[in-house]
Amino acid sequence: MVHETGYYDLLGVSPKASSEEIKKAYRKLALKYHPDKNPNEGEKFKLISQAYEVLSDPKKRDLYDHGGEQAIKEGGMSGGHSPMDIFNMFFGGGGRMQRERRGKNVVHQLGVTLEEMYNGATRKLGLQKNVICEKCEGYGGKKGALEKCSNCKGRGVQVKVQQIGPGMIQQIQSMCPDCQGQGEKFNSKDRCKNCNGHKVERKKKILEVHVDKGMKDGQKITFHGEGDQEPGLEPGDVIIVLDQKEHPVFQRQDDNLVIKLDIKLVEALCGFKKTIETLDKRMLVITTEPGEVIKHNDVKCVQNEGMPLFRDPYERGQLIIQFKVEFPEKHWLPEHLMFQLERLLPPRDDVMITDDMEEVELCEVDVRTEQRSFSGEAYEEDEDGPRAGVQCQTQ
Ligand SMILES: [Zn+2]
Ligand SMILES: [Zn+2]
Repeated sequence: MVHETGYYDLLGVSPKASSEEIKKAYRKLALKYHPDKNPNEGEKFKLISQAYEVLSDPKKRDLYDHGGEQAIKEGGMSGGHSPMDIFNMFFGGGGRMQRERRGKNVVHQLGVTLEEMYNGATRKLGLQKNVICEKCEGYGGKKGALEKCSNCKGRGVQVKVQQIGPGMIQQIQSMCPDCQGQGEKFNSKDRCKNCNGHKVERKKKILEVHVDKGMKDGQKITFHGEGDQEPGLEPGDVIIVLDQKEHPVFQRQDDNLVIKLDIKLVEALCGFKKTIETLDKRMLVITTEPGEVIKHNDVKCVQNEGMPLFRDPYERGQLIIQFKVEFPEKHWLPEHLMFQLERLLPPRDDVMITDDMEEVELCEVDVRTEQRSFSGEAYEEDEDGPRAGVQCQTQ
């Protein structure tokens, strides 16, 4: 039984969530609250990362489920990784060591429809990025015109002395704002006018993202070296993470597509012909075998009409059809005709009523009452199950 759900709540998943669901929840939240996108949500980003670090590891998750956050701390299982490490591991930022001389990777989420993943698509994505200034080639000004910064005397830092109490002073070191910590700067006449001495300029770049047939939710498309440029640094990558949108008709389960199909009672009993429009707008016709009966929640499938397989798009998964049988409403048939219908249906079982039996009223279940009695009892539940049964209400 789960005692504490804080980590699950942070990720917005249920304590029964699969590891896939946990991954997906982390992916969405981490991208939303990443300091690059949301500089004011650093704390939230940290908490999400902590929760994911525990819940993504089956051992730690088990420990957490049994003993909560306390058990994680006592077990020496907490921390170890910074939120950024976890983020980079998840999105493939690579090890830090080899990335020392590279700019950081930028991760973007791209919402794609199921149709786009089925048919393939090219999406254009405009992004703003820093590129080396063309005018000064990243130098920042006239060659050889760099001067020692007068503000910090070439040290790149400035020291501020602050009185924090009677007779107490504090020295605060900070980066020199005049030269951005470089110790050197251009005077205004030598400074590059194009980049204002910043060596880089902001430019819009259009990336063409090819969504291949059969790509999956969470799949990454990497554009090597398309990250921000900075003099002396190899630019990082732009990583596009696909985020599959919900589809009104089909649900995807790996390479299979699932559709719920409503059929009438007459169709369930007497057979039917029905059409299903595919994601590439073809019409499929499905027909029952003569004499076949489809029951409510029956599942059938059509081979090779699911999602195309990634890198093997002529192969497809299955189209799985879940049938929902619509029953007619109350009083749909005049009572004097009932016996005709009954004659045609399989016979009913007769019940012998004896004097020692009790006749009781059959009533509708009040859904709200039912929920209340279950949630209230959830933590006191013992081996015998909930004590308060389903409550009935006469209508
Ligand atoms: Zn410039
Ligand atoms: Zn300076």
